[in-house]
Amino acid sequence: MSSKLFKSQKQSKVVTIEECNSCGLKMKRLFQPNDFIFKEGSSCQKCGSKTIMTSIYKEEISS
Ligand SMILES: [Zn+2]
Repeated sequence: MSSKLFKSQKQSKVVTIEECNSCGLKMKRLFQPNDFIFKEGSSCQKCGSKTIMTSIYKEEISS
């Protein structure tokens, strides 16, 4: 028997960074299944331009 009962208890979440091409604003939000890097994101909260997803990574949740 080699079951791994002692897995890490740390929880993590995946986040997507959307970056505005015009003003450089970066917005972080939860990753959604259709996200991928360099995909067009939502509108910039500051200037209204389109944003581009520039990074997707896993973040540990420290409770
Ligand atoms: Zn902007």
